[in-house]
This record gives sequence, structure tokens and C-alpha cells, in this order.
Amino acid sequence: MGTSDGTIQGSTKIVDHGSDALRWNLVLVSEGYRSTEMANFATDAQDFVNTLFATAPFNTLQAAINVHRVDVTSTDSGADDPTACGGTGASPATYFDATFCGSAGVRRLLVVNDTTVINTVQAEVPAWNMILVLVNSTVYGGSGGAVAAFSMAPNAMEIGLHEMGHTAFGLADEYEYWAGCGTGETGHDHHPAVEPAQPNVTIDSNRTTIKWGDLILASTPLPTSANADCSNCDPQPNPQPSGVVGAFEGAHYYHCGAYRPQWVCRMRALNNPFCAVCRRVIVNTLTPHMPTKTPLKDLKDHKFEKFEKIEKIEFKEHKFERLEVGKFRKPEGKELKLEVEGVKFDASEVEVPRPEEIWERIDQLELAVEQLSHFITRELRPDLSRGALQAETPAPPSRRTSAAKRRSRG
Ligand SMILES: [Zn+2]
Repeated sequence: MGTSDGTIQGSTKIVDHGSDALRWNLVLVSEGYRSTEMANFATDAQDFVNTLFATAPFNTLQAAINVHRVDVTSTDSGADDPTACGGTGASPATYFDATFCGSAGVRRLLVVNDTTVINTVQAEVPAWNMILVLVNSTVYGGSGGAVAAFSMAPNAMEIGLHEMGHTAFGLADEYEYWAGCGTGETGHDHHPAVEPAQPNVTIDSNRTTIKWGDLILASTPLPTSANADCSNCDPQPNPQPSGVVGAFEGAHYYHCGAYRPQWVCRMRALNNPFCAVCRRVIVNTLTPHMPTKTPLKDLKDHKFEKFEKIEKIEFKEHKFERLEVGKFRKPEGKELKLEVEGVKFDASEVEVPRPEEIWERIDQLELAVEQLSHFITRELRPDLSRGALQAETPAPPSRRTSAAKRRSRG
């Protein structure tokens, strides 16, 4: 078992928005793909990237993100599926030892050997910020801990986004069950009287002290919804218009005594947008990795003369004339759009002048910020719960399969 069951083939940067030292590096790792299936992994990885970049708020933060693919083959396909959780009993030989049933009785909890994954990625992409393992199985599952994992089940990309919420952004599960609603589960009636560390769940419904109080309108009642029967999930429909931010009872694996910011969120049930609180956390995490606003960023406001040779360039406060052609340099990692007399240029395709002292100073500052934020990210990476989502939101009746129904049980 383990690393004798496959081979590390190497890594490929599949989204390049600049130097790894400056961007937020997402690493996608294969697990349970045989050498003959690696083309499938490349396709699955690209599918995830396409989904990610179509999802708010990542769609507007793409420039902050690099994506790397780490290709690791396994002897066999799939993941372990213990009979103890109602699985098939399959036990394929895979590199990262992926297995469903990572918690007693919960088949959907798909885990991998985190240490082996991290060691592998550390060697291939040292600047990683977030590791997502794509597990080549059609059984539904995922988890988010030190690394996140998800299977290639139908709706798999949604699982990946949810698990990224845990691992990359420290978000809690906003759903109010452990085994599942209607399972008769005990021990999940009232949330313990301890405030969760995560930003998107709370036991505090007081308007003046609730964590996301600045997002709650004065006209919104608090608590915004209450569960009348704490022995089970709250069955009522949303008492508020969709999109209202407040304190909705039922969150963080408990039917009562814990609150979530909106009626729905991707951290509560798949196929929903991230709520306003979760979006804000994601934006705040990724924004420092956006290309820095540099003097050149505003070049369309400035004037070029004799562009072919660039004899004069004006910044807001500085003026450089007759720059030496030999010192031109492409500003790596900086997204620059130049416009000269109505003609647009992509700065990655043209030589731009490099006033050495300015560029070097900018580079130093960006690296300093990057190193600091990367360090903080690593050190504060929370010890995340390994709860698992019950199942995706039921598909419309015509598409709802017997397999989906089976997954719904707890
Ligand atoms: Zn949320």
C-alpha cells in the first residue's frame, strides 16, 4: 500500500497568472488513476478549473490564482470502499490510500493519506496554498482537512468547491445534521455553548456582537429563523426573502443553538452560491494575491511617444526619457494592458521599459507581502472538522437517480 503503489510523474502549471511567489497556488493531485488513465485526470482537472473560474467570487479573482496539476499514477483505479459503511469492499492499490468510510458509518467521508499528499506536493510545487486531491471513483464522497479530496461522482465539482471552503478558507459546515436529517440521530439537538472559531457559524444571535453583524440590515429580525423541534432538522421553508443575511438557526452539525448567515450556502448544501459571509472570507484571502497596482497599471492614462523605441514614458509622478532599449524587461506576474493611441497591447507580449529602481522596489514589496501572507496562511491553517455533506441537493425528479436516493440515507 501507499507510495509503492504508483509513481509521481511530475507537475504541470495549467493556469499561469504569474510567479508562484506572488499568486495563490492551487494544486490538483491525482489519486486512483492508472497510468493509462492520466489523460482522464488532465480532463477532470481542467473541468474543475473551468467550474472554479465560473463560480463567484473566484470568477473575479482569477488573476490571483495559479493552478498546478501533479500527476501521480496508481497501480489500480478507484478508492477503498469498506463494507463496514455499506460499500463494495473494493480495496485497490493506490498511491495515497484513498478510502471512503473515513469516519465510522459514514461512507461519503472520503479521506487520503494527508502526509503523503503534502510531502509529494511540497516537492513538486513548494509554493502551494491549497491542495485538492481528485479521486478516480464514481462513489460520492469528499472531505476537507489539511488537504481536501473529492471523488469523480456526478456533481463532483460541487463537492470540490465545498471542500475547498474548508481547507483553503477555514469555513465551517453550515448544515445542521451529522448523520442526516430524519435519521433519528441523537447528540445533535443543541450546539455546545462554545463559540466556533470559523467565520460562518456562531452561537451568538445578538445584533451587536454577532460576527457578521455588519452585513445584517437593521430591519432583519434576530434570530432570523428558529427551529421549533430541536430533535430534528428545521423543516420550515425560508421565512425571509432569499439572500437575506441574518442568523438562521441550525448549523455546524446541530439542529438548534447554532446559527448560519443565510438560508442557503454552498457550505450548507451543494448547488447553492457561497453566502455573503463565505464570499467575503474568500475575497479577503485571495485579494492579496491579485496583481499589485503598479505605476504601469495605469498606463492608458499616460502618454507614450514614439512607441516603437519608447523614448519617453510618464508615470504619475516620474518621468523617464530615452530609456535604454537593452534594459527592457517583461514584468513577470503583472497583468498590464497598455493602450497607445487607441491600440491595445498586452504587456506580456510587448517589451516595456524597466526603470530598474522602481521595478525592483515593487518586486521586493510584493515578495515581502507574499511571504508574510503565505506564512500566516500555513501557521493559522485551522484544525478543521471532518464533517461530510449529506448529499447534493436533490436533482429535479426526472434526473433523480436511485443512486442519489441511496446516498441520501445517513
Ligand atoms: Zn456560507
